[in-house]
Order: sequence, then structure tokens, then C-alpha cells
Amino acid sequence: MILMDKLKIALFADELPVAINKTLTDLLLQCQMEAVPGTDSVNGCTGGELYLTASPAGRAFLLCVRLYVTATGESYQREINIVHDAPRGEWARTAKITILSVLQQAFVLPELPWGILTGVRPGKLAYNIFKNGGNSEQVLVEKYLVAAKQALLLNNIVNLQNRLLRNDKKEVAVYVSVPYCPSRCLYCSFPSGIMPDNQEFQQNFCTAIEDDIRSVVQLLSIYDLKVGSVYVGGGTPTSLSALYFHKLLGIIAESLKLTAGIEFTVEAGRPDTITQEKLQTMSAFGVNRVTLNPQTFSEKTLSITGRKHTVQQIYDAYNLIRKAGFKSVNMDMIIGLPGENSQTIKQSFEKLLDFAPENLTVHMLSLKKQSLLFNISNSYDFLSAKDAASALSYAEDAAEALGMNPYYLYRQHYMLGNHANIGYSLPGHECLYNMQMMEERHTVIGIGPLSATKVPLGDGHSLCKFHMPGNFADYRQKANSLFVKRQKALAFLYE
Ligand code: SF4
Repeated sequence: MILMDKLKIALFADELPVAINKTLTDLLLQCQMEAVPGTDSVNGCTGGELYLTASPAGRAFLLCVRLYVTATGESYQREINIVHDAPRGEWARTAKITILSVLQQAFVLPELPWGILTGVRPGKLAYNIFKNGGNSEQVLVEKYLVAAKQALLLNNIVNLQNRLLRNDKKEVAVYVSVPYCPSRCLYCSFPSGIMPDNQEFQQNFCTAIEDDIRSVVQLLSIYDLKVGSVYVGGGTPTSLSALYFHKLLGIIAESLKLTAGIEFTVEAGRPDTITQEKLQTMSAFGVNRVTLNPQTFSEKTLSITGRKHTVQQIYDAYNLIRKAGFKSVNMDMIIGLPGENSQTIKQSFEKLLDFAPENLTVHMLSLKKQSLLFNISNSYDFLSAKDAASALSYAEDAAEALGMNPYYLYRQHYMLGNHANIGYSLPGHECLYNMQMMEERHTVIGIGPLSATKVPLGDGHSLCKFHMPGNFADYRQKANSLFVKRQKALAFLYE
């Protein structure tokens, strides 16, 4: 047996009758192996070569997994039958389980809390099992090798969401994207830009959003849709100047004719962008949820990560938000920031108890190539994958101490310790938009550059998606044709 840290493995899966290379590559990544798919040469591959072949055998295919470990020269093999008309996803599930069993013979693998699940939204799978009359907790453990703790967590979330989400396909969520921030966080992989400190740009931005919303209002009328939730996110929408932030919220609230009962969230992520004037604007236009994102309460980490605000500014912004009368506040935290260890993270979650947010969202660091951090990650110490689980327990303890329950979760690639991002909430304060967007059972209409429109097609799997370009000039110039494309996405469900 080889105790592995990070190994490269060449994956040969070309002969499979369905394209499942992506899911298999994701599984290897989860096992801390880097897949080198489809290569003829395995030079530089210190792990081994993994072959998957499938040959017709009567009404079934014989799936064969063969692993050759280059370091020891040993080889391992397992074969399994899959019927021709196996249900959706069964090929990938069987192939992943078979691969995993072969890898487990050859290497000491890390713990896989999510078993063979590699997707972003495990809740969708749990919901579909439930909808088809299955016991999702049991199926996740037995068929997908999910750890009992995670299966129970997912089961509880699905049950809660079933009580909270309305099954009305005419009720839609609206997302307004303001993909700009005051500075770029070191770990950020989102393609947001720096908010130009330029009146002309901010005016043009508001005008563009106004045109975009006008087109959406027409769609709402044509298809007889009603707005259930609005989320103004980014980036950092509050990085607009007070004047243009006021214009933007006015355009949104008045065009969509938002009434008091509609959930209306503004992501005011950076404490240094929150002012009394902007909070008054939010109150005036009916915003009822505000997100303030400390990420950490370590002064040093805030400085390292380029957040450009202090811990004191988090306290000040929170107090301003409460003084302005907001009753639902979310705070985001990240586990695994550069230079932080278990102790730093524990202290941050203890400090969080100084606040009394109604929502808490805990992210595990996901180090991606698009981030500034990626290329200089060697300059910092990071929490080990092993310590990530205990760090996560500090978050769970804080959520419990605050009286919150988990209500949505999602996963990303390259997440520390292969865990999940989890949203917690006090009962009655769950963010409708977060659940709708994450579980993909409701239509989300995206407005603004980089926004996404997602229309679920009713089979529990398929979505019609449309993305606005991130580049503002492209978005502005092609606006009319983009609006037509968005309408076509909605027409799939509503015509
Ligand atoms: S505030 Fe969020 S979106 Fe903006 S740079 Fe930081 S991580 Fe990225």
C-alpha cells in the first residue's frame, strides 16, 4: 500500500459507451489524484494507469477497471456488468464505485465524506430519491457511499426545503448581478471586476440594468409570472456610490413593483462599503435581508487576503445595519484562508457569537486557478485537509449556539477536505432565493452582466440555461439580442 498525498493518474476511459470522463475525473480529484485523461503517454504519472473498458455482453455491458501502479508495478482489476438500459446516472455511479474499490486496494485514500458524489448540488439527488418514494438517507449511504453524518444532514435539509419551497412554476426568483468589488480578494475565483470610481460608468451601468429589467418585466407579463424573491448580488453591489446605489435599487423595486411580502436581499459583502445612507436606501425600497461577509475575524488574514477593511469595520457595519432596523442579516465565513490554522478559525467562530445574525453561510476554501492566490499559494501555510473536519465542527458549534439549522448546501471542486459550503438559519429566516437557486427546482431570471437565467424543465434533471456576458461593453452592445436569447430559455417552459 502507498500512503498517498497527491498523485497523478492517467485515465483511459475512451471505450465507454457513454461520456462519463468528467465525473470519473472528478472522482479522482476527490481522492486527491489528478487525472491526466486521454493521454497516450503516462510520462510524469507517479500514480498509475487506470483503464476503463466496456464491451457488449448480451443485454449488458461488461465494465472493466484495471489499475497499474507505476511505483510498485502491481496491478488490480475489477469487472462489473451494467445493463444496456440502465437508468440515468447509473453508468457513472457504477463506474465510480468500481474505480473506487480498485483504488482502495492500491492506495490509502483520504476519507470521502461525500462518497462518490462529485456534483455541486447533492441536494438535487437527495430530493429526486425522496420524490421517487425512496429513503434518501439510506440510498445515499448504501448506493453512493456517503458518510452517515452527511446523509443525515442532506436528508434534514431536503425535508426542511420541502416544507419551505412552494411548488409553483409561475413563481420566479430574480437575480440582479453587480459584478464589481472595491478590490479583489486574494482567494476570489469569480470573474468580478473592480468597481470603476467613475460617475459615467456607474450611470451607464444603471441605465443598462434599467433596460434589462424592462425586458424582464415584459417577460413576466407575457408568461404571467410572479416574482417570489429578488437577490441583488455580485461582486459587491454596495460598491456603487450612494447616488447610483439609490438609482439601482429604485429601478429594481419600482420596475418589479415589489411589495412588502417579497424577499428582497442585498449582498453588502464588504463592511467598508456599507454606509448609513445606503442602508436608508435599502429600507426605503423594501430590502428585508442584508448580507455582511466578515469571512474571518483575523486582522492579519483580512490584510493578507486584500479585503481592505478591519475587524472593527465589521462591528461598525453590523451595528449600522441593526440600527437601520434590518431583521434578517446573513454573515459569510470561510474556513481555510491562507495562514489560518485551527486555532485562528476557532477564534473567528467564537467572535461570531458577539453578533446575532439570523443566517450564517460557511464556505470551505476552494483554491482555483482563476484566483490570485493560486500562483502564490506556496508562500502560505494552509489548514490540512485532515484538520478541515475539526474546523468545520467550530462552525457547526457556532451555528448551534446561535440557534440555527442547516438549510442549504453546495459543493465545489478543489474544496478543502472535500466538504461542503453550508447555509444555516434561524427558523423562519431561511433565504428563499438561496434555496431556489441552489436546488434548481425554480426558475431564476438573471439580470445584469455575468448573470445566469436558469429554467428547470420539470424532469428533475434538465435545465435550460442562459448566461449574460461578463464584459460590460459586450453586455451593453448586444443587449437586445441577449434579451431575445433569455426569452427563448424561458419559452422552453412557459410556451
Ligand atoms: S468580495 Fe467576493 S466577489 Fe468580490 S473580490 Fe472578494 S470574493 Fe470576489
